[in-house]
Amino acid sequence: MNGIAWMNVALKKATASLKVGEVPVGCLFIYNDEIIAESSNTVNETCNATRHAEMNCIDQVLVFCKEKCLDYKEIFSNIDIVVTVEPCIMCTSALYQLQVRSIIYGCKNDRFGGCISVFKVSNVYNFKVTILGDIRSEDAINLLKNFYEGTNPNAPEPKIKKISKIKNKDPS
Ligand SMILES: [Zn+2]
Repeated sequence: MNGIAWMNVALKKATASLKVGEVPVGCLFIYNDEIIAESSNTVNETCNATRHAEMNCIDQVLVFCKEKCLDYKEIFSNIDIVVTVEPCIMCTSALYQLQVRSIIYGCKNDRFGGCISVFKVSNVYNFKVTILGDIRSEDAINLLKNFYEGTNPNAPEPKIKKISKIKNKDPS
């Protein structure tokens, strides 16, 4: 599958997470043309602001490696990340630490983006990760708009007060 096809899968995950009241971001970790980890944000579910989709996927890969007795460094170096929104600074740093092969994202993250939008994490690492953005970005943006504007009919209590509070949340 190519980047756009994978992004379609990630967008489906993001759409599902919108329905359970999480910031709609979907993420896949691809290894040997297969999904070995997939997640959306679980910040609300876990009451843990660091539980972004990418961090959840990292944990899944570590379990995968442990179960199969694989060297996680070797696996991460061959993983391509497909995520509907540009990873935030925290997640981009984590992905650089693990030296993943590439990051393919949908729309930019103007508030917290660590690939290009707010800060270029690549500037502080002596390691190259291929970054490719703007893949089906309109769809990713529409999902975020649904969430922040409360236009999603399944969103809980779309009141002004709540929306302004949500607006300060990190989207990825
Ligand atoms: Zn993040």
